[in-house]
Amino acid sequence: MWLADLTAPQIDALSQDTVVVLPIAAIEQHGPHLPLVTDTCLLTGLLQSAHAEVDDRTLIAPVQWWGNSHHHLDFPGTLSAPPGIYVAMLQGLVDTVLAHGFRRILLLNGHGGNDIPARQAMFQVRQTHRQRDDLLLLTATYWTLAPQPPAEVIQGLHQSDMGHACEWETSMMLHLAPHLVGAHKELPDVATGDGFKPANRAWTTRQRSSAGYLGAPSAASAEKGQALLGLFHQGLVSLIDRMVAWDGHSWAG
Ligand SMILES: [Zn+2]
Repeated sequence: MWLADLTAPQIDALSQDTVVVLPIAAIEQHGPHLPLVTDTCLLTGLLQSAHAEVDDRTLIAPVQWWGNSHHHLDFPGTLSAPPGIYVAMLQGLVDTVLAHGFRRILLLNGHGGNDIPARQAMFQVRQTHRQRDDLLLLTATYWTLAPQPPAEVIQGLHQSDMGHACEWETSMMLHLAPHLVGAHKELPDVATGDGFKPANRAWTTRQRSSAGYLGAPSAASAEKGQALLGLFHQGLVSLIDRMVAWDGHSWAG
C-alpha cells in the first residue's frame, strides 16, 4: 500500500504489525551524464517493482528526497540537509510512525551518504524506547540486499560494488529512465579504492573525482541495470517477508 494514497481511517484500520517502509534518497550531482534525481529515481523504481509483491502487508511512504549530501556540495545543484538536521529529521519521522502505533519500521536507503545518519537516527529512536521489546527498527541500503553478489551472477559486470554515478547506477538509469542518461561511453574509469582501509576515511567527492563520479560508467548497459534491479528487488522482498514473519519480540528474528 502507498501510505500517501490512503485516508486516515484506512490507516487506522490496519494491523499495527504492518511493515512501514520509509524510503530515503537524495537530490545530488551524479557526474556529467546522470541527473540530480538519480538516487530518488532508482529507489522509486525499485519500490514500484516490489510494491506488487508486498502490497498487502506493507505501507510505503513517499520517497524522501532531501538527503545527507554535503560531500557533493562542490558540484552545482546538490540539495543537502546538514548532517545533524538530517539525523534529527529521520528520528522525528520514525517517531511519528511509532506514534501511530506501528512497530515494524524499515528506513530503506538509496544514497550512500544517508547510511550512517539513518543508522544513528534509528539507534537514537531505539534508546528513547528502551523499555519496549516489541519494536523492529531496521535500516538497509538497497544495493546491499542482493541475495547473491551481483558480480558473480551478472554477465560482464565490471564493478563488484556500488560506486557513484558508476556502472551500476548508470545501468539502472538506462533501464528505468534512458531519456535522462547522457553520454557515458567515453568517460574514463575513476578508481573507487581507498589506501587507508580498513580505516574509514572522511571524504569529499571533489578530492576523489574532478568529474563527480566514481567507478566505470562506460561499462553500463540497460541489460545490466535490469539484472541489478532484479537482484535488489529479490533482496528487498525477502527482507520485508522476514519482517512480516518476525514473532514480535525475539532478537533472533
Ligand atoms: Zn547515486
